[in-house]
Amino acid sequence: MKEYSHFIAGGPVKGASGRFGDVFNPATGEVQARVPLASRAELRKAVEVALKAQSEWAAVNPQRRARVMFNFKALVEKNMDELAGLLSSEHGKTIADSKGDIQRGVEIIEFACGIPHLQKGEYTEGAGPGIDIYSMRQPLGVVAGITPFNFPAMVPMWMYCVAIACGNAFICKPSEKVPGVPLRLAELMMEAGAPAGVLQVVNGDKEAVDAILEDADIQAVSFVGSSAVAEYVYSRGSAHGKRVQAMGGAKNHAIVMPDADLDQVTNELIGAGYGTAGERCMAISVAVPVTDKLADALVAKLKPRVEALKVAPPTDPDAAYGPLVTAEHRRKVLDYIDLGVKEGAELVVDGRGFRMQGYEKGFFLGGSLFDRVTPAMKTYKDEIFGPVLQIVRAKDFDEAISLPSKHQYGNGVAIFTRDGDAAREFASRVNVGMVGINVPIPVPLSYHTFGGWKRSAFGDLNQHGPDGVRFYTRIKTITARWPKGGVRENTNFVIPTMK
Ligand code: NAD
Repeated sequence: MKEYSHFIAGGPVKGASGRFGDVFNPATGEVQARVPLASRAELRKAVEVALKAQSEWAAVNPQRRARVMFNFKALVEKNMDELAGLLSSEHGKTIADSKGDIQRGVEIIEFACGIPHLQKGEYTEGAGPGIDIYSMRQPLGVVAGITPFNFPAMVPMWMYCVAIACGNAFICKPSEKVPGVPLRLAELMMEAGAPAGVLQVVNGDKEAVDAILEDADIQAVSFVGSSAVAEYVYSRGSAHGKRVQAMGGAKNHAIVMPDADLDQVTNELIGAGYGTAGERCMAISVAVPVTDKLADALVAKLKPRVEALKVAPPTDPDAAYGPLVTAEHRRKVLDYIDLGVKEGAELVVDGRGFRMQGYEKGFFLGGSLFDRVTPAMKTYKDEIFGPVLQIVRAKDFDEAISLPSKHQYGNGVAIFTRDGDAAREFASRVNVGMVGINVPIPVPLSYHTFGGWKRSAFGDLNQHGPDGVRFYTRIKTITARWPKGGVRENTNFVIPTMK
């Protein structure tokens, strides 16, 4: 069986802890590889390598750092098919969807290629007599990222493309469920010209995460995953003096107004609710039709579409979505569907009985649709993260806007309407971080920043875009005086002002 290594100091390093995790093929249910789970000592080794590499990398001029990113982009694109096949084989998402995952990462590289411009400081000439003030954005040093299973390419690249372009050395601790693509991308980064130690991959679980959070030489930690772990990483990392951004779970609502084009909305809800088997932090998991009449019409349109969803192995080009990532995760989603029935929601389409012929041990699950879900239900309050769409009926616009606004999560939200006034008011009032207006998955492009509110994100600065550069740099401000004839002043005991 394939055994993965870590990627330290520019090459593979075998795991030394004696602990391993299983990497499944979700379509067949078989264990296809094992991944080493790092000890504290192995993590420390990577930090020491990174410390040395970082000081040299930070001294490389920004245009040369950008050239590494240009090379990296070309290599990722060249290897797209191989990467997508590997990603699908470990995650279970369709090949086309894996390419989307990688392409989103490529778009972050494109953003990072602009680092000579993005990292520029500011300058004020003549702020006082012979005085100029200027600022510089300097890299932090060694930084680390801890990533989830659902975007094995995009999420690590959100972090390290920006971090490395800014002159940091990055240690990636990917999800132990999907280590293949992060490891392969690290090889490509080396091929692109990044010095050894600038990007390293240390596989592991809680032990490696705790080692990252407590290591005094790691300056910043970026985390994406579930909210409970995000909160833990944020508080423990901050307590150890680190800059931390920690993105968590989600429950994204789509408000459907009575004037919306219902066929278009149905299409959008099917794609955004069931794509990637619902294993997306920006998946739509709750639809909120405004008025009962609209809800009846929407359910009538959704029902046959959910029943007709083609669930198939990732390699089937016609598959809407593939298997869930693990048997354990499938079980968790099944338990939520059972609970929804117990709580009194109406199960309009029941995906629990679905079996994939020829892949009986795979982690497949049919699409489910719940109507008459209420805010008091646990299945509404929690993130399910599976192919399950819930409908919560609202009597009017105010009730509809209050649902996502009061929910514990605040990642994304969408409104479908033809009324510009309602859309504008919604965008302004809703208590959620990313808003789509007739756009079901409002994931901002790489040059804007990505991040939710409430329990969907802990910390101040978001992922990529301008916030990414802010997160991975710190500002130094210099006030310099070069008056004609040299510097000569009397002692001054009063705070200098510009009076
Ligand atoms: P997870 O929280 O189980 O794991 C994320 C990372 O944390 C992994 O690297 C894992 O090894 C590590 N980890 C797990 N348990 C830990 C513990 N007890 N202590 C320390 N580290 C631990 O998340 P997941 O199941 O891999 O990913 C799915 C979750 O990620 C969903 O909740 C989804 O909404 C969220 N997500 C959020 C965003 C966002 O930007 N808000 C993006 C993608 C995914």
